[in-house]
Amino acid sequence: MDSVETYFPGSSTGSHVGGELLSGTGQAVDLVDPTTGQVLTTYADGGADVVDAAVAAATEGARRWQQMTASARGQALWQLGQEVRAEAEPLAHLEATVAGKPLRDAGAEVAKVAEMFEYYAGWADKQHGEVIPVPTSHLNYTIREPYGVIAQITPWNAPVFTGGWQIAPALAAGNAVVIKPSESTPLSTVVLARLAERAGVPAGAVNVIAGLGPTAGARLVTHPGVNKVVFVGSPATGRRIAAAAAAELIPCVLELGGKSANIVFADANISRAVGGAAAAIFSGAGQSCVAGSRLLVQRQAYAEVVERLAELADRITVGPPLSESTQVGPLQNKPQLERVRQMVGAAAQAGARAVTKSTAMPAHGYFYRPTVLADVTNSDAIAQQEVFGPVVAAIPFEDEDEAIALANDTRFGLAGAVWTGGVERAHRVARGIRAGTVWVNSYKTINVMSPFGGFADSGFGRSSGTDGLAEYTQAKSVWVETDDEAPLAFGY
Ligand code: NAD
Repeated sequence: MDSVETYFPGSSTGSHVGGELLSGTGQAVDLVDPTTGQVLTTYADGGADVVDAAVAAATEGARRWQQMTASARGQALWQLGQEVRAEAEPLAHLEATVAGKPLRDAGAEVAKVAEMFEYYAGWADKQHGEVIPVPTSHLNYTIREPYGVIAQITPWNAPVFTGGWQIAPALAAGNAVVIKPSESTPLSTVVLARLAERAGVPAGAVNVIAGLGPTAGARLVTHPGVNKVVFVGSPATGRRIAAAAAAELIPCVLELGGKSANIVFADANISRAVGGAAAAIFSGAGQSCVAGSRLLVQRQAYAEVVERLAELADRITVGPPLSESTQVGPLQNKPQLERVRQMVGAAAQAGARAVTKSTAMPAHGYFYRPTVLADVTNSDAIAQQEVFGPVVAAIPFEDEDEAIALANDTRFGLAGAVWTGGVERAHRVARGIRAGTVWVNSYKTINVMSPFGGFADSGFGRSSGTDGLAEYTQAKSVWVETDDEAPLAFGY
């Protein structure tokens, strides 16, 4: 492969299909630098033709990938982890430039991507079926088979991380993928595809579409050559995609948004809880599906927690992602910045009080200061709708029952956390929160080894760990008659 620098915004922007760069023929799409608001480059939407070519390439890619032994596939995936490590610096630089992520966060995410390939490399030759003691004279066994071609659609908030997160288990299970990252952040996923080929994954096993949702994405998720869809993005798009795929009887996994409750009891280590609350909502400029966007604080500690969090927020350095001192970068795109402004403005009109004061940030680009809103009630729009920005709504509660009730009073169910000094309470509340991930005296730790996914409007199906791997295979049951005089069955 050429050096990663080749994939910096420029003439090479396009889709990666069957090992080749394929230019689109659709409408022009601007790739905009979130730090400056300037256009980095313009590429043509990979519309129907590119999608059809990618699915055809993936069909052939799956065949070639499955011809390799499971161990050889594992070795290629392990090598892919090493390729990602070897290119970590330019890859993080690319991600920081296009997604607007502070360089150190981008570097940490690239390291996680390497881990994902290394973890699933180990699973490639360890997916066995079972022998089932059926009550007949048959030998009955199961095989975990890959689906074939997987369509994956990902958002702009963590493109390389989300790409690795879904490509790794799909490949480990023996599938090929056609992945469509967000139109505003396609490049780092193209790099992953190129690195996969450098590691020994056959061309066609990983294809990347640089294109728009309503054109390329919509065609991909209902394509007759696609066997499963895995979508990471907003609930509104997820609903549309699941409905479209269902009409074609294509199964889906949906990893959607959240409005996670971060619950602080008065008996918690308040310093840790405040630091954790800041990381929960401000890292990544709040553009995280698991962001701790509702801060529920027991009334005795409410004033102190809100004040200390606001002080901490006001000290955060908001700046260009490539600067060493930056802690929070820009939002990734202008519509998102406008949405955050609009939601905070509406919250203020509804009675929320902004406790944060600092206005220090670059004059240009899509920057937004970390914001703490107090005097919010849980039924307010700012506490019910996903902001996807560095804005936390602080809500007081009286006791454990009320904390759990407020945490669950949302359509979402992605994550939550509890900060307390009481071990019994920690487990009770962890069990009481209706969400796919709960942290105790911690926030936002996730790892490829542990399952991740949503309850309710946060989606269905799981990613990561063995649960995530299982989404990429289906069981086949094989019945072998061992008695040639056994009666032949006419019914079940
Ligand atoms: P989005 O739903 O607008 O877009 C996500 C992807 O869907 C993009 O690639 C887009 O091009 C594509 N798309 C749009 N319309 C489509 C269509 N009709 N058919 C097929 N594809 C289509 O989401 P976004 O604004 O990019 O990302 C933010 C959202 O993603 C937030 O809600 C966030 O919580 C969620 N998210 C969830 C997770 C998770 O793991 N649960 C992780 C990251 C982000």
